[in-house]
Amino acid sequence: MNILLTFDYELYFGSPSGSAEKCILSPTGELMQIAEKHDARFSFFVDCGYLVKLREYMNEYPTLDNDYRKIIAQLRQLSASGHDLQLHIHPHWEDSSYNGKEWVFNTGRYKLSDFPAESIDRIVALYRKTLEEISGRQVFVNRAGGWCIQPFMETGRAMKDNGVWLDSTVFKGGYFFSGNYYYDFRNAPQDACWRFSDDPLKPSENGFFTELPITPLNVSPWFYWKLFLLGRINPRLHKPIGDGNPMPAPGYRKKLLTSFTVQPLSLDGYNARLLNRGLSETKNKKSTNHMVVIGHPKALSRFSLRALDKFIDKHKQEHRFITYSAWAEKYTGSFS
Ligand SMILES: [Zn+2]
Repeated sequence: MNILLTFDYELYFGSPSGSAEKCILSPTGELMQIAEKHDARFSFFVDCGYLVKLREYMNEYPTLDNDYRKIIAQLRQLSASGHDLQLHIHPHWEDSSYNGKEWVFNTGRYKLSDFPAESIDRIVALYRKTLEEISGRQVFVNRAGGWCIQPFMETGRAMKDNGVWLDSTVFKGGYFFSGNYYYDFRNAPQDACWRFSDDPLKPSENGFFTELPITPLNVSPWFYWKLFLLGRINPRLHKPIGDGNPMPAPGYRKKLLTSFTVQPLSLDGYNARLLNRGLSETKNKKSTNHMVVIGHPKALSRFSLRALDKFIDKHKQEHRFITYSAWAEKYTGSFS
């Protein structure tokens, strides 16, 4: 089995956003140490809107200049160590600003599809170019910010123009529409991966795009009661390392605490507890030879970093921990 451990490299989008040090630099540093220890490779979906905004304000604010330099240095180091840097777009950065103390987010246009077609073209091209200049490699994978990939028509056109042909956003069965969020993956195919044209949920044999979905998992409400309780009882072990607050998602916590939900298999905080279950369920599906796990440096905890270390150690003989680049090299053309 190929296991793709993937991380959305970003700040929080609530108030406060949290610091680059705590949300990104320090936890990613720990991830690099774990990867090195086990000779594993990870994939990072880099929030390029943040990089573009840092560049816009760095001459005016030394603290942002410092953040920018450290982040670029870390991204270069990640790329040089064989980790993947791929595209993660949170277009609300376009409408956001820095007030001298903190980021002020306007999340009214949270999805790429909230923007007119010309803006989508410009954003995708600029963010792709920004990332390629840092990594020195071609960017070809996208993960939509906040999983908000629908509707895909205009976004798809821009992705195609920019040579981005692989998507890794969908997790079958997941859905949430509230506040600025909208995603609905209940009708996604069962397949391990599939080709598509202008709708990621509709396979089409000769489609330009390929979906390599995030592994979904059914999670009981009791799990989340435990998760929230542990955060109170032992915050040192279970609280996120990141020091910001998420963008409000009205009703989301209630949904988790009151019903079974389908979640993306995740490394964030106590969710890392479910890694082994995710792997054994994936192994039982005979048609699948890969598993995609999502995480966020900002949402990792002491607990999840330890769980990740143990998980890789336990499975590294039998399975391979690889990037999208390594996956694409091996499987492009052979799965359709
Ligand atoms: Zn994100």
